[in-house]
Amino acid sequence: MGTMRTLISNGTVVTASTAVEADVIIDGEHIVGVVEPGTAGDGFDRVIDATGRYVIPGGVDMHTHMELPVSGTTSADTYETGTRAAAIGGTTTIVDYAGQTRGSTLAAGLAEWMGRAEGHSYIDYGFHMMVTDVHEGTLAEFPQMMGVGVTTFKLFTAYPGVNLSDDRQILAAMQVAASIGATIMMHAENGIAIDLLRDEAVARGETDPIHHLLTRPASMEAEAVHRVVALAEIAGCPLVIVHISSQDALAEAVVARDGGLPVFAETCPQYLWLAQEDLPEGFEAAKFVCSPPLRRRSEGHQAALWSGIDTGRVDAVATDHCPFTWEQKEAGRGDFRKIPNGLGVVEHRVDLVYQGVVEGWIPLTRWIDVIAETPAKISGLYPKKGTIAPGSDADIVIYNPTGSHVLSARTHHMNLDYSVFEGAEVGGSAETVLSRGEVIVDRGVFVGEPGRGKYLVRGTNALLPERIVE
Ligand SMILES: [Zn+2]
Repeated sequence: MGTMRTLISNGTVVTASTAVEADVIIDGEHIVGVVEPGTAGDGFDRVIDATGRYVIPGGVDMHTHMELPVSGTTSADTYETGTRAAAIGGTTTIVDYAGQTRGSTLAAGLAEWMGRAEGHSYIDYGFHMMVTDVHEGTLAEFPQMMGVGVTTFKLFTAYPGVNLSDDRQILAAMQVAASIGATIMMHAENGIAIDLLRDEAVARGETDPIHHLLTRPASMEAEAVHRVVALAEIAGCPLVIVHISSQDALAEAVVARDGGLPVFAETCPQYLWLAQEDLPEGFEAAKFVCSPPLRRRSEGHQAALWSGIDTGRVDAVATDHCPFTWEQKEAGRGDFRKIPNGLGVVEHRVDLVYQGVVEGWIPLTRWIDVIAETPAKISGLYPKKGTIAPGSDADIVIYNPTGSHVLSARTHHMNLDYSVFEGAEVGGSAETVLSRGEVIVDRGVFVGEPGRGKYLVRGTNALLPERIVE
């Protein structure tokens, strides 16, 4: 008995470069053909009729935090619940963040995260490495990490005493990264200055969640982007600015890019759709607390980010998925500094970016580029992931462009008892999802087996100019 052969017929195949009527032939776990409609022949074990549907590459979410330990608690989605929700929303790959514990090694951090994910993830996954204790021993581990498929290292200018690296440490890590073809991911906010603003606010009795937003000004994000770009330029190091929330920070990344530097911009659906103006009164606003914070719509941040997607200046939309239940958020009642930072978004990313197509702000191909192809390239997973082409993994979403649904805690699959998108009506929906040729969501019904997702040994960032990779 041979491998299972599947035909996806009569759909419109959309990639980052084209949208064409075509049939897709799958043999086992891989795509083996993309052919003129009706020319695939017969003898298939399974035929999926995609009439009136888009056939798109499975989404690649290159920024998630499943079961992340944060100040005595853990983000609420496990690898099981989080990847099931991701798959239902059309995402078939995540790149999660493993982390170093201060005083310990990168290898120990990776082993810990591997242990949590293995046997539980429904979809394929890789890991970036959060580096929180930069010294010679840590830097000496970078090549070993590359050897096991961790080709991206995250540093922070935020969270003093927890994650922050100083400029000397950042430059040193960038020099090592540059020498081995690794890419640095950066959380860019000036955490030292922000901590003073936070402490001053609390001392004045300003303890409500709104003050989380007011004490993290966009200028402190832009300043940090400018600074880390300057350091990356000295080191000759490729740099991804993760979760860009403001037009100020994006502008700094764009100046770097236009100057020829390998600087890439990631944003998230929450920064594209949510704003300070949407916050409920009082402590309920804790649901919306994340870092960087939501910005004011009236200042034009959302419009600038959508425009950045349209013009190719925003490279990727990831989620920074890091949900905390209402009970967990309650830890910050009376002191916004104690609210765990993070939102539940992983299930809705594909839909929320598609709304830009519905609104006429971005073309179909840009949608696919920012949710799948470019994240796959940056993460060293392309063309295995992120496109529909012979040889690629058969990670495919049959997307109904005319369907619509309402986002709500009552119907979502994330392990979260509220939704920051509660009541939002979105056009389009993922109907059937294949991961390596296997149907894991069948017309909206989840049918995947837990633990079927595989660890991905990632290559290096495919978008690096040749002068960077030796
Ligand atoms: Zn994050």
